[in-house]
Amino acid sequence: MKEFDYIIIGGGCAGLSLAYELEIHEKLKNKTLAIIEPRAEYKRDKTWSFWKMSSHNFEDCIKKSWNNFTINIPELTNHLQCENYPYQSVDSALFYKKINSKLKENKNIVFFKNLKEINKKDSFIFNSVPSIKKDHNNLWQHFCGVEIETKHNFFDEEIFNLMDFDCEQRESVHFFYTLPYSKNKALIETTWLSKMNDNSQKDYDNQIKGYIENHLNLKNYKITYKEEGAIPLFYPSYKKEKNIINIGTAGGMTRLSTGYTFLNIQEHSKYIRKNIDNIFNTKKYEINKKYQYLDEVFLRVLDKHPEKMPGIFFKMFKASPKTVIKFLSNKSNFMEDLAIILKMPKLIFFKALFY
Ligand SMILES: Cc1cc2nc3c(=O)[nH]c(=O)nc-3n(C[C@H](O)[C@H](O)[C@H](O)COP(=O)(O)OP(=O)(O)OC[C@H]3O[C@@H](n4cnc5c(N)ncnc54)[C@H](O)[C@@H]3O)c2cc1C
Repeated sequence: MKEFDYIIIGGGCAGLSLAYELEIHEKLKNKTLAIIEPRAEYKRDKTWSFWKMSSHNFEDCIKKSWNNFTINIPELTNHLQCENYPYQSVDSALFYKKINSKLKENKNIVFFKNLKEINKKDSFIFNSVPSIKKDHNNLWQHFCGVEIETKHNFFDEEIFNLMDFDCEQRESVHFFYTLPYSKNKALIETTWLSKMNDNSQKDYDNQIKGYIENHLNLKNYKITYKEEGAIPLFYPSYKKEKNIINIGTAGGMTRLSTGYTFLNIQEHSKYIRKNIDNIFNTKKYEINKKYQYLDEVFLRVLDKHPEKMPGIFFKMFKASPKTVIKFLSNKSNFMEDLAIILKMPKLIFFKALFY
């Protein structure tokens, strides 16, 4: 059986980002790497969007970047600017293609479909397959998005809609999200923050159809692409082992209040690459404890008072957009945290400290 210095379990966003980071920094010249990935072929399956707070390796995979956005609740819309930290969308098809063609150049990197095909006894393992126990008390961000093309120009491609809460909430938190790629092309997503116990929330196709046809009043369009997913808003269980580092969702790289993960994965990859020569003794990388704690309180409020959340998100963005974006991207300082906290309804959040 073949042996490798490193094994990456799961060649998705985190696994491939790490392999690419190691490869371009020549960390795999004299080391061998096995990537375990069961999928038969790589095709577009996700659109990763985020506020660009730090540099990353995938500028050439950006589908579109925006400097303006809106958030709205029934009757009220807030227009915001984000030119300091533009919002970017990475096309997963371009991402997979770029990385896989680079990795092919190095004979030390080999893909396998199953971990059983290799001997893992003496390898260092980076695992991106989360172990998630089914628990009806856990919150998820679950969603479905379609890319549509319209016959006539319809969208303002300069401004995206982060959250449109002017829709049915069904005792959960629900919003639509629209990324206009051009005047006649956009990704439109229905997103729920819930425990996924209500199957009617998964009637995504009808929700999207209703939103496009009745809310946006758009009749002449065709669907060209669809993506669906569920992001755990809790940390997967973690068993500490000397030769394993969990990465990606499995490694706790998701910001629980937002689901944003992509840029944290890139920062984690850089951290591992910098420490790879001493990886057995490297300290665990994690999202700053301050955000872990604040997100936990935020989710407690969301769980107990879902009906208040549209107003809470709307109010949060009444702070300067720069401050909110830094906070949501784990880059805020104490004064910026305070500015956000002061926008929250005090009594509800205070009580949530003691649930
Ligand atoms: C549809 C979708 C859209 C998202 N959009 C955003 C976004 O806009 N912004 C953002 O920041 N985050 C987003 N996320 C969250 C997060 O960025 C992604 O989930 C990201 O793909 C997480 O990377 P990962 O490597 O942890 O998981 P994945 O990318 O899912 O990779 C895991 C890999 O493991 C493989 N695998 C599964 N089982 C096994 C096994 N037994 N053995 C070996 N391999 C296995 C899978 O085939 C997969 O390739 C999105 C998530 C989804 C699902």
